[in-house]
Amino acid sequence: MSYAKVHAAGVSGVTGVLVDVEADVALGMPQLVVSGLPDAALHEARDRVRAALVNAGEEWPQRRMTVNLRPATVRKQGSSFDLGIAVAILGGAGRLPLAALDGVALIGELGLDGMIRPVRGVLPMVMAAARAGLTQAIVPQANAAEAALVPGVRVKAASSLNAVMSYVRDGVELPAALPALTPDSRPQLDLAEVVGQEHAKVALEVAAAGGHHLSLLGPPGAGKTMLAARLPGLLPPLDDRAALEVTSLYSIAGRLAPGAGLVRHPPFQAPHHTTSTAALLGGGTGLARPGAISLAHRGVLFLDELPEFSRTALEALRQPLEEGSVRIGRSKDFVSYPARVQLVTAANPCPCARPGGDAFCECSPTVRRRYLGRLSGPLMDRIDLHVELFPVTSARLFAVDDLVETTETVARRVSAARSAAAERWRAYGWQVNAEAARSALRLPPSATADLRHRIDTGLLSARGYLRVLRVAWTLCDLAGADRPTREDVATALALRLGDLR
Ligand SMILES: [Zn+2]
Repeated sequence: MSYAKVHAAGVSGVTGVLVDVEADVALGMPQLVVSGLPDAALHEARDRVRAALVNAGEEWPQRRMTVNLRPATVRKQGSSFDLGIAVAILGGAGRLPLAALDGVALIGELGLDGMIRPVRGVLPMVMAAARAGLTQAIVPQANAAEAALVPGVRVKAASSLNAVMSYVRDGVELPAALPALTPDSRPQLDLAEVVGQEHAKVALEVAAAGGHHLSLLGPPGAGKTMLAARLPGLLPPLDDRAALEVTSLYSIAGRLAPGAGLVRHPPFQAPHHTTSTAALLGGGTGLARPGAISLAHRGVLFLDELPEFSRTALEALRQPLEEGSVRIGRSKDFVSYPARVQLVTAANPCPCARPGGDAFCECSPTVRRRYLGRLSGPLMDRIDLHVELFPVTSARLFAVDDLVETTETVARRVSAARSAAAERWRAYGWQVNAEAARSALRLPPSATADLRHRIDTGLLSARGYLRVLRVAWTLCDLAGADRPTREDVATALALRLGDLR
């Protein structure tokens, strides 16, 4: 036998791609030619496959071997094709009968010692196998639980090339993997734990209900981080499609804990202000790692101490925030990852950051002005809700409050408001008011008189006007009304301007 074909898989963006590995083994000058891989990856794969085969006790075929990865049009990144290449070579050389591999995807990187090493992105790869009608996958042991999350595919875990050969040749079973059943134990952060700051809690609820971006300004200890971390708890759980998408991104990032199930809750990412732009947006050689903005996809990206972030980093966030996806790499050679996030920013009112607030500030007016100046500009203009927090007094801290609302109570209102919005925008395909286009948001002139006056006098930008209208619709949805009232518009404007107290 001189020709063999097996199935392998890779990823393109966040989507898995099924790849056919063909091997042709013929008489002639002994060599291995691999086509269909980018140059760097190709050399490495060739070296690994050769060493792994020899160290697994196989003789390296003294033949002219041609391996081709198809389709050629798909850009192939990463090392997940090694196992497929090794098995195809053995099949082509007539050393391995491949009948047992009908309908099976082979995924894994080979170590030089012949062991099978884990790869990133196994979940979307196995999803691609399922879409293509394959019924089985052989994957690295460490990736088996995540692979088993895909319905309709039987997953076998392999730790070495020898184990795979014994299975194919002699029917020695590989361990079957079962989907992880560990309950998704998300730390329960409750809104009831946040003392005071009622106006900020209102803004947080509005942000959750409409998918709006939120900025929090206030002294240390006022509860900015506590509030931001409680936003995901107010959002509805991810539906099946979103859960697979988010979990795929964590799989590609290599961030899925062993045995973890699907990510079912909106994620929360809080990159430090010293985080590099690459770590924020994604990057790296080979299979690009999704950055914080993609790991926060369908959830919350929290930027604490916003003025401390580099201008370059903040500048770089603009495009992904606008488009809901991030492009990594150069013009010709790029990968795109989803990045639909809700942004929450936090900042101290001045660089000295005294917990007591303005009364204890030691900064000069110039220093304060310069610092706050960093909070203006295009990124802040894209934030719908601006809230100022005040120092929490001891009286407030020790007061017994019977009216404190829990996350569960608020999340119920958020869910009802989101349903109303999704129902209204169904024909447009928008899920939340933050996605709604201007033409759909029109209100009677009586409700928007004040807004128009502000535009005419230069106090409100066109973008600001649109964002105020969206928030007004969210306030209306939270109130269970049909249309925003003049008061809703006024409240939305106060939220935009940071005037809500
Ligand atoms: Zn100060």
